[in-house]
Amino acid sequence: MIVDEFYGIARHALKNHPGSDSVRITAIVPSAMGPVVQWEAPILARERQRKALGVVGVVAGPVILEVLVRTLAARWRKGAPYCPQDWDVRLAGRYQRIFQRQAPSTGPGWSWLWEGGAQAIVAAGVPRNFRTTDAKDKFGSIRWYYEAEEDCQYVDDITDAVEHLSSFICEDCGSPGRIRKGGWLRCQCELHAKGRTGA
Ligand SMILES: [Zn+2]
Repeated sequence: MIVDEFYGIARHALKNHPGSDSVRITAIVPSAMGPVVQWEAPILARERQRKALGVVGVVAGPVILEVLVRTLAARWRKGAPYCPQDWDVRLAGRYQRIFQRQAPSTGPGWSWLWEGGAQAIVAAGVPRNFRTTDAKDKFGSIRWYYEAEEDCQYVDDITDAVEHLSSFICEDCGSPGRIRKGGWLRCQCELHAKGRTGA
């Protein structure tokens, strides 16, 4: 359920952020975008965190949580999570200003994460001549490259948050996961890892 997924993903994604154990869900509010998790985190650090060993992202905790909330809303919008086979084409169609040149090319478990990130950029304002140049999987997590006419810290923050969160979400199904070793690195839940251990 959405509550377990929020805590299951946030706990690991914010592991190196001071005050992250103060994160608490206060309500889940229905909206057109899906169920929105409202949270409070009285002592969670607001600034970017220093890069820790094995952690891709350093983006601030509240930005990570904002993208996670949008991701879970999209995932649970229709009740049980459902991902059509052509999700990448549909997503590129729904978010043309983000993905018109390059649709995401990853497993379906990250479809809602791409949507959460795209939605956050649209909500904050798409920079002039924004275009995604690559949106793929590398070493078990997302790499999102883009170009824009203007430098936008908030777009960097959002794409960093998407990349960071992908290390804690199963690329196959979207449940909480972690990066597994064995031949190639891939972020998976217990079910899809089939016994492969964490990297
Ligand atoms: Zn899975």
